[in-house]
Amino acid sequence: MKELLTGNQALALGALQAGVEVVTGYPGTPSTGALTSLLKMTLPGRHIEWSVNEKVAFEIATGASWAGKRALCTMKMSGVNVAYDSLISVAYSGCIGGLVIYVADDPGVSAGMAEQDTRGYALMSDLPLLEPSSVAEAYRLIQTAFELSERVGTPVFFRLVTALSQSKSPVEVAPPPPPPEREPRLVRDITRFTKAGAAICQQQHRDLLARLERAGQVIREMGLNRLEPAAEPGGVGVIASGVAVAYLDEVIAGADLPTPPSVLRVAAPHPFPEEEVRALLRHCETVLVLEELEPHLERGVYVTAQRMGFTGRIVGKLDGTLSRIGEYTVAEVRRGLREAGIPLPESPPPVQADHLAAARPITVCAGCPHRGTYMAINQALKNRRLKRDEVLVTGDIGCTILGMNPPFNTVWTEIAMGASLGLAQGYVRGGVRTPVIASIGDSTFFHAGMPGLVNAIQHQCDLTLIVMDNGWT
Ligand code: SF4
Repeated sequence: MKELLTGNQALALGALQAGVEVVTGYPGTPSTGALTSLLKMTLPGRHIEWSVNEKVAFEIATGASWAGKRALCTMKMSGVNVAYDSLISVAYSGCIGGLVIYVADDPGVSAGMAEQDTRGYALMSDLPLLEPSSVAEAYRLIQTAFELSERVGTPVFFRLVTALSQSKSPVEVAPPPPPPEREPRLVRDITRFTKAGAAICQQQHRDLLARLERAGQVIREMGLNRLEPAAEPGGVGVIASGVAVAYLDEVIAGADLPTPPSVLRVAAPHPFPEEEVRALLRHCETVLVLEELEPHLERGVYVTAQRMGFTGRIVGKLDGTLSRIGEYTVAEVRRGLREAGIPLPESPPPVQADHLAAARPITVCAGCPHRGTYMAINQALKNRRLKRDEVLVTGDIGCTILGMNPPFNTVWTEIAMGASLGLAQGYVRGGVRTPVIASIGDSTFFHAGMPGLVNAIQHQCDLTLIVMDNGWT
């Protein structure tokens, strides 16, 4: 049957199809919809939970995998920073049941924080990463991710970006099957599941690299990275990954090109698709690399080109043609193709509609008790005859930061989950003489704020902490 699904929903249904039994995660746009859609379903025999933070979520998923079950862990890109301490250790150990880490990146920063590219984490941890180019592909590719993970014995990153996780598309889906009947396993192997000594750790490092190489072989067998060379050698070749593939296909489909370019569509950017890139470089004179955010693939193309003695042009971010900032668009991809020498007409100028949109300053929802809290803080300062620019109020991730905006103008800072407490202590230790206030939401407090509070009490730091629990979310 066909259903209209977001990328998050397609991924979640695909995971059920793959036989996932344990799903954990921590909410954060643009990834939240995946786990939320599962919580709305009745799924006997499967465990689905929002965990206290991404590290705990990943550890639960790992335990399930080591017990032989398929497990999925979901988070936004910032969550990988929290989970990574455990993640690198588990990368060394490998997994038993398929273990997939779904991360939604946010090029264009529509949901706050940084334009962090999770492919960098895949490189750093030597783990494979799969990345679909459409909502329908997300449904199929997540199933492949579980198969790859289990065949190789390695956790696998699965990356979406905001444009794919949030957009809707019709997808052919099957009804979710019942969970597989797998007996839990108990495997005691301290050479795999502990880090007891340098010899064990170094052997695990060797095993990790061997698994990555094996993952590359399996990815080639599966044909995940598809090379379509042009009929004639020479000319332009395009390497595209993720959502850039969809933009590329749209431009090519709408153009009446006498000779379409050679195209390498990359669904598995890590490990680097060396063989396919070599084949493309042998076939083409100019290569254009289309990937959002960091030039990870492009750097690999330069290395491969240098080893092969390729003397043609490489067009992308490193020659200044394309940007490392923000989302790509069809127009940006068209511009890249034109720069590479493909005879396309210029994009029509974008329709400017900004002036039609009503101004919507970001503020707290109507009725949210946070509004009263900021007003109370401001009133308390007034009662003490203190000005707002004399009293530092640290904010935290989430809605506490809304206190930085008018009419409150209360909050001064935002760094990361739980950072309001550490930062406030730093200001106190730095000698600030006026009162220092830390403000944090309840979920953020449990996520990463508690160690900061323990530290403040241990070292008797003179600050005021306000935990904002609206009792709703
Ligand atoms: S805490 Fe909830 S109700 Fe309050 S501003 Fe944030 S989203 Fe809105």
